[in-house]
Amino acid sequence: MDFDGENGWVNPIIKPFESITLSPASFVFHYGQAVFEGLKAYKTIDERSVIFRPEKHIARLNASCKRLCIPPLDSELVLEALTTLVELEKDWIPEKEGTSLYIRPFVISTEPYLGVRPSHHYKFMIILSPVGAYYSDGQLNPVKIYVEDEYVRAVKGGVGHVKTPGNYAASILAQERANEVGYEQVLWLDGKENKYIEEVGSMNIFFKINGEIYTPKLNGSILPGVTRDSVIQIVHDWGIPLHEELISIDDLYETYQKGQLEEVFGTGTAATISPVGELKWEEHVMTINHFETGEFAKKLYETMTGFHYGKIEDKFGWIKEL
Ligand code: PMP
Repeated sequence: MDFDGENGWVNPIIKPFESITLSPASFVFHYGQAVFEGLKAYKTIDERSVIFRPEKHIARLNASCKRLCIPPLDSELVLEALTTLVELEKDWIPEKEGTSLYIRPFVISTEPYLGVRPSHHYKFMIILSPVGAYYSDGQLNPVKIYVEDEYVRAVKGGVGHVKTPGNYAASILAQERANEVGYEQVLWLDGKENKYIEEVGSMNIFFKINGEIYTPKLNGSILPGVTRDSVIQIVHDWGIPLHEELISIDDLYETYQKGQLEEVFGTGTAATISPVGELKWEEHVMTINHFETGEFAKKLYETMTGFHYGKIEDKFGWIKEL
């Protein structure tokens, strides 16, 4: 679907995957005015094709558009596009548990123009791809995370709370550095004091401390994850105290030293729940739960996937059935 200043969003079409042609002067190549989403469709155990919380993802897409000065999309139309595409490609939704059809809606600015102001032309596209199980052996293998203390991902007033490519481009160097020293992911601290925990490369983060759950509160520089929101609702439903608050890395380390840090896990569309086995912050190495998947993370994973694959009744209204 295309946008131009005169006609708005027009020409929604579905066609086979193919290359597109863009002018080398297209705005997006030079100024990065673009946004995207990532969500999944699943095949339930009774053979239904479902999409997980598409409305929430569309709302976040439009919030990202707003921050990047991209004209808003008609949410109903995007929902129709998603459901129509998934319906058309439903034979590509893999059946094995853990697998899914990944859906990537995105908007790029296409006007050939050099100079910084909102583009007058945009393209909205949706591409799909089946994805294998994140945990190939069905086991939730704990990951090792490196707390980044030099680079920052986002600052207050910036674009950390929206899904725009620049955030990811800026994080590659830190990610590479973490990989080189044997860590899979980066944990970002706030961009002002380099002290408060924000999120992981592509996940939000949670801590289980003395039987209660903690996650950094949304502060304008953390992406409001759809999985984060789902986990919060589930934990509330279980009646377990959950705190969304500022969490400093020093306090977390102190909690660890006192033996109160019981579990750490990330949440995101890719992994759903990803237990953390080790956190490295400066010279400190924190080994979490003996580098084993905690019971709480496991239960959450089973509950979330229970919703995805239709094994648990959709009491929150998260499942969009085709
Ligand atoms: N933070 C970042 C930076 C991400 O890229 C993602 C993945 N979209 C998340 C958090 C988790 O968000 P969600 O649960 O919506 O996938």
